[in-house]
Amino acid sequence: MTKSYARIIIDISHEKVDRTFDYRIPENLMQEISVGTRVLIPFGKGNTMRKGYVVGITSQASYDPDKIKEIGGIVTDGVSAESRLITLAWWLKEQYGSTMNQALKTVLPVKQKVKPKEKKIIRSLLNPEQLSSALKEAEKKNYKARVRLFSALLHNPVIPYEVAINQMNLSASAVKPLIEKGEICLESEEIYRNPIQIEGQEGKRLQLNKEQQMIVDCFTRDYSEGKRNTYLIHGITGSGKTEVYMELIQKVIEDDRQVIVLIPEIALTYQTVMRFYGRFGNRISIINSRLSAGERFDQFERAKNGDIDIMIGPRSALFTPFSRLGLILIDEEHEGAYKSETVPRYHAREVAGKRAQMEDASLVLGSATPSLEAYTRALRGEYQLFLLTERAKKNSSLADVSIVDLRQELKDGNKSIFSKKLQALMEDRLRKKEQVMLFINRRGYANFVSCRSCGEAIRCPHCDVTLTLHNNSRLVCHYCGHTIPMPSKCPSCSSPYIANFGVGTQKIELMTKKMFPQARILRMDMDTTKEKGGHEAILSAFSEHEADILIGTQMIVKGHDFPDVTLVGVLAADLSLNTPDYRSGERTFQLLTQAAGRAGRDAKPGDVIIQTYSPEHYSIVTAANQDYETFYKQEMAFRRLMKYPPASGLLTIQFSSRNEPVLTKTAAAAGAFAAALGEPEQVQMIGPVEASVYKINDIYRKILYLKQENYDILIKIRDQIDGFSENHPELFEQVLIQYDFS
Ligand code: ADP
Ligand code: ZN
Ligand code: ZN
Repeated sequence: MTKSYARIIIDISHEKVDRTFDYRIPENLMQEISVGTRVLIPFGKGNTMRKGYVVGITSQASYDPDKIKEIGGIVTDGVSAESRLITLAWWLKEQYGSTMNQALKTVLPVKQKVKPKEKKIIRSLLNPEQLSSALKEAEKKNYKARVRLFSALLHNPVIPYEVAINQMNLSASAVKPLIEKGEICLESEEIYRNPIQIEGQEGKRLQLNKEQQMIVDCFTRDYSEGKRNTYLIHGITGSGKTEVYMELIQKVIEDDRQVIVLIPEIALTYQTVMRFYGRFGNRISIINSRLSAGERFDQFERAKNGDIDIMIGPRSALFTPFSRLGLILIDEEHEGAYKSETVPRYHAREVAGKRAQMEDASLVLGSATPSLEAYTRALRGEYQLFLLTERAKKNSSLADVSIVDLRQELKDGNKSIFSKKLQALMEDRLRKKEQVMLFINRRGYANFVSCRSCGEAIRCPHCDVTLTLHNNSRLVCHYCGHTIPMPSKCPSCSSPYIANFGVGTQKIELMTKKMFPQARILRMDMDTTKEKGGHEAILSAFSEHEADILIGTQMIVKGHDFPDVTLVGVLAADLSLNTPDYRSGERTFQLLTQAAGRAGRDAKPGDVIIQTYSPEHYSIVTAANQDYETFYKQEMAFRRLMKYPPASGLLTIQFSSRNEPVLTKTAAAAGAFAAALGEPEQVQMIGPVEASVYKINDIYRKILYLKQENYDILIKIRDQIDGFSENHPELFEQVLIQYDFS
């Protein structure tokens, strides 16, 4: 007679998921009711029957059992997409440690009473000749947005309005005069749904090469035999993974099932998006994180109603309420953006695996640099591994990569940020009118200000980090936004000798200008891409040859194909190695491999120069050799030695509080409690230690690490510590506790 109450939410609207109601499960329904089941329940004074969802089952009612009403029946109109998502939310809550409310908000879009926006398309009213001359005209007048639009319309007479706005950086005011001149028109969804496929060159199917065809054949065989596997495609950059994805999608939608494609936001560029539109036309919808809650809801409604078969988007697209899901695809599977940084801190790869299993769908992961997690599973046989070892485009080959030792450069008297070799190659490319990318593998700036007299760096008063110099005039905290004007003397010792150290993209731009005054330079970083579409605008300007050199952070290594880039310079490969994180070697390898993959995408051969102070580090050497296997072996050896994931499970528990003494006491008590638990289970515990940034926004943070191979044991410990915190309100009143599995 245990577990006889169901915890039910009445309606899945934003406000009401906050609260659940307990109902007794009648004996005869005991077998049929589980999390996700839709039930009928008497509600309110009049006991009107309402529909609700079971979100939990418990043996202890949260209020007087005598007053609890009984479930009236089960709603039997099939299993809805929503029930499945609610079951998934339950799993998220259990797995990652969150409230059911937080989990539900993650999987279900926010319902808002906004008028649904019409879906619009832009249609060209010009014939190809007229279009070409309109394009020339726009080029002459240097109307960049028009140039982008007209050249796109030359390939596809019809373009979704949302793509024009989001991916091509067009504004409504740029579109209007063209409508008035009768060159284009806007049409609404009704017409859009008519079977005018978006046609054009991009829509044509390529003849797959042997390696590509092998993957498609294997997948198709499994799929038609009803086998639903997880596949990992390890394919070098430019090996034709996207082409393979499109074939797989085709197979699945021909079977009348639906597909979710996850692509990191940064790679969701116009080029990528149009490839999918070119192939699948109006059966696609695309979401991105800039959509409002209401817009996202609309897109999800279209999915629920069966108006579309394919949803493309970043992490949150994973929760598209398709009812006949057949395939989930995750491109660039190794990307950090697939891990949620807010509670529940899930990883899209894991959740996709769970959803695919629940809905009898296949899962395909793809990457040029698979995560250690995915590759380890592939080697263990849990995933089926496919390789794409060659560039798909004829005549294109991998670039020549060389490593330059910056210590030697300094010994030879070269103090500039450009090694002699990089400098010479840049001159050569500028002369040949080919393009160059300079890459600094660190987000934002490493540009802090310190005093040459006392050595003190200027820090944020609220956070434990140095302030960053912007435009040589203001100091900004990248954690809390605190900003002050650049002081003229040291705040600690009043010495006038303060200056900025380290390198930032801005500073590199200045130095590049100085060294190559004739070159046209574009810079892409957090500052220059703040505005909506800023990222895309810079990439397309570069691809249209509005600059010779593009300088940027990791943002520049994704998404776009630049056929004329024949030189990539990595200015200081060490920057991403020296971060306090066990993944720094892996991240460095990924960034360098991807940066190297940018050169020589087309027929022209490419060079890559990696400048570094640690030329013998395995991450750098193996990336230069494009040798994933060797990298994997070395990195796994390190993870095994240190018991880091995926060699071991890692549970990170963070305690945070404004009150430092209380925090210290509470974290220590929880640590002692965990230590006492862990003994028989062989759990290794580290800490509590101060977080690498101890204070953010005046809140102090301490961390407890628990390592153990078996995740289930870690989950059990998490539950016990959670119980401990509930039983000791005196310790946890001012302390927030958060869990993170990796
Ligand atoms: P990836 O996703 O692995 O980076 P893509 O699918 O973008 O690779 O392919 C890289 C380039 O090669 C694209 O321009 C694509 O059109 C082209 N390509 C892909 N497959 C083939 C093929 N079988 N034959 C010719 N070109 C191909
Ligand atoms: Zn000083
Ligand atoms: Zn701050």
